[in-house]
Amino acid sequence: MLKKIDHIGIAVKNLDEALKFYEEKLGLKATGTEVVEEQKVRIAFLPLGESKLELLESTDPEGPVAKFIESRGEGVQHIALRVDNVEEKVKELEEQGVRLIDKTPRYGAGGARIAFLHPKSTYGILLELCQRDE
Ligand code: ZN
Repeated sequence: MLKKIDHIGIAVKNLDEALKFYEEKLGLKATGTEVVEEQKVRIAFLPLGESKLELLESTDPEGPVAKFIESRGEGVQHIALRVDNVEEKVKELEEQGVRLIDKTPRYGAGGARIAFLHPKSTYGILLELCQRDE
């Protein structure tokens, strides 16, 4: 079951610079930064009400976030939907013929279990399914 928008992922060229804007100008507070090797990113979450913003900086010119910025520029890169059981949801969607990037959930920042759906199936947005205990 889908619960809420867990976070909105924003691709940025320079995480520290972007944080300055989101913290100093907008008054949000990052919960720290984390490197997620598997996705070649360094990220920060900024909680905002029921949801969060996730700023993502690529740690590798070949990484998905670097490629995204190269072709589309900085900006909204994905939207994450909170699910109560990511494994189940992925299986359910696969059975319905939905195109998935991850057929098996993987590690996501902050200890979440995540899986991405292909933008070809979602009308143009990279959707992340995200399960976390909180
Ligand atoms: Zn995310």
